Amino acid sequence: MTTKILVSACLMGHAVRYDGRAKPLAHPALERWRAEGRLVTICPEMSAGMPVPRPPAEIECGASGKDVLSGAARVFEITGGDVTAAFREAAQNALRLAQETGCTHALLIDGSPSCGSGFIYDGSFSGSRRDGNGVTAALLKRAGIQVFSDREIDRLVESLATLI
Ligand code: SF4
Repeated sequence: MTTKILVSACLMGHAVRYDGRAKPLAHPALERWRAEGRLVTICPEMSAGMPVPRPPAEIECGASGKDVLSGAARVFEITGGDVTAAFREAAQNALRLAQETGCTHALLIDGSPSCGSGFIYDGSFSGSRRDGNGVTAALLKRAGIQVFSDREIDRLVESLATLI
């Protein structure tokens, strides 16, 4: 069976980020996978009803996505709004879509409080990074989906090459 890949919508050129912009990734593998029908695109945050644009949000200081899933941490907008429930719903939507469509791998943009898988911002809204997963990436990983950040697309290419 063809390996399916869940992919962040903003990586595919959709203007869904908090600032109303996209962050398209130019890579020949993405075009090939699209033509092969392997890609399943989602913006988890939009799937949970968050608007575009929206205030930037970060997981609270010292925590990461798994802490949000366990109820030990929350997600706040820069304006102070608590968006924890929406971020959990976003992650559940992404996992459900991945499972319904048979995605075993995911390619997600790094740094996002939802999609980040290598780093996230540290909750201080100062631009400081910390190692960790966003909420969606944490849930996908917990479910056994192999998650790669946009910076790791070449590793994803290698990983798929061993399966095909
Ligand atoms: Fe992109 Fe993910 Fe943020 Fe949506 S939730 S804008 S797909 S990084």
